Amino acid sequence: MSPEQELTRAREFSQGLVELVASLAPSRRANLLSKADGRRCPTCACRMVYFRGERFGHERPNAATVEHINPRKLGGSNEQWNLIARCNLCNRASGQAMNEWLQRHDHNPPWDEEKRMINYLWVEVHDTSKAQELYPDLYASFLKKRESMATKINVKGGERIAKRNGNGGKPSTTGNKSGKGRSNSPPRKK
Ligand SMILES: [Zn+2]
Repeated sequence: MSPEQELTRAREFSQGLVELVASLAPSRRANLLSKADGRRCPTCACRMVYFRGERFGHERPNAATVEHINPRKLGGSNEQWNLIARCNLCNRASGQAMNEWLQRHDHNPPWDEEKRMINYLWVEVHDTSKAQELYPDLYASFLKKRESMATKINVKGGERIAKRNGNGGKPSTTGNKSGKGRSNSPPRKK
């Protein structure tokens, strides 16, 4: 999976050539989430649950949610390649970190910076060690928000990621896959 098409769209969006896409149709959302029920979050490997028809906040950390990898507000599309089911906690933490980044750039980041962000978000979902390499500050911010939410509701998984990767900001350049799984239950590929 590559973000090329999303980068093209984001560039056009930043130039005012394409519009903000509509939020995802409820039927597509439900379809994606029901398929995710019982699967593992691609980022933290927690087991996701589809809470059908239920509204929830951060108190449901493992709820399956739809992630636009390239966010709509950066010109992200509703194409299949840009959508993935991710746990509520990872999704929220990622969104908060990105919103802060947007604010730092007065909601008008220079293109180079935005391109870096989209590339970062692409790996943040699937490969946290690459994410850390590509954009250490943002990754640290993501982990911190995730950890703080997880601590509030006493979820162990969040602490585990944070401890492994966020320890004193040391980059985990070992790059082995074990960095993103849970030691007692390795993530399963589809
Ligand atoms: Zn997760």
